[in-house]
Amino acid sequence: MKKRILFIGTGGTIASELSDEGLLPGLGASSLLGSVPDIAGACEVESVQLYDLDSTNIGPEQWLGMAERIRDNYAYFDGFVISHGTDTMAYTAAALSYLVQGSPKPVVLTGAQKPIGFETTDSKQNLRDAFAVACDGGIHGVCIVFNGRVILGTRARKTHSKSFDAFSSINYPNIADVRDGRLMRYIEPECFARPRFYTRLDTRVALLKLIPGTGPELLRYMLEGSRALIIESFGVGGLPERGGMHELVKAAALSGKAVVMTTQVQNEGSDLAVYGTGSALARSPGVLEAWDMTTEAAVAKLMWLLPQVKVPGDIPRLFYTPVSKDILSMPG
Ligand code: ASP
Repeated sequence: MKKRILFIGTGGTIASELSDEGLLPGLGASSLLGSVPDIAGACEVESVQLYDLDSTNIGPEQWLGMAERIRDNYAYFDGFVISHGTDTMAYTAAALSYLVQGSPKPVVLTGAQKPIGFETTDSKQNLRDAFAVACDGGIHGVCIVFNGRVILGTRARKTHSKSFDAFSSINYPNIADVRDGRLMRYIEPECFARPRFYTRLDTRVALLKLIPGTGPELLRYMLEGSRALIIESFGVGGLPERGGMHELVKAAALSGKAVVMTTQVQNEGSDLAVYGTGSALARSPGVLEAWDMTTEAAVAKLMWLLPQVKVPGDIPRLFYTPVSKDILSMPG
């Protein structure tokens, strides 16, 4: 029997056309499908146009909208394909991994670096591959399918701004590859008998990327303006010792804010205890560390966990409980 797939359009380059203001999304999900007619022969597809947005304009409100659309239609389809702009697709994939947990049915995000109407485009291949993954039956939960890679939703990052090979899986292997329409599955994603849906996000999450010279004023401002602050530090992690920055972080963590130390180095993650610039923070109660987690996943996980916090101990408990293999290398 043919698989039933819900195809959700949200905009992005794949659905864009040239205008005087540059590329603007405008093509609906059914026109995208119309450009790749062989997909409709392989599965039964229903299309819905949820948004017409460049993904620069997609955020928590739309993540909740996508999760709600999946939840409302979950019983009626075997899988879901979402076409989405590439710029923030990794954040959306991470957010959906927390909002729709343990899904036995696949939720596949894809998009393109070149619009579907262009002579040279990756749109059609990415759509074919995304539907092949959605119909396969061996891929569960949220993933990105792009340029032949199948990347777990919690592990994706946009690593090329122009080439077709736009996404990488960070600190985790691709879960599968698609070659000539055939799937090579390497890892079976975990799933539950039934998905768990979440409907709330707290957007008071901020990210401070350190540069040499970042001082306590900016750190204080960002801590005061957020409920959770991720600090992207250098190397395996640490914080400049001038101006009482360590004390600011320790005090914020003790007061019940979520403070997460991570690294701006893309691969291999943090290990805060290694250097004198980080070891005291690593031992400090309430200061969290992202280890091998991507910043995209840390942002989405904090937005998801904050509404569930009743006592301060809930923050580390929820942050360090792995969801869809988002964090693996923490000790203990
Ligand atoms: N700016 C576009 C977007 O993210 C880029 C793309 O889709 O490739 O919507």
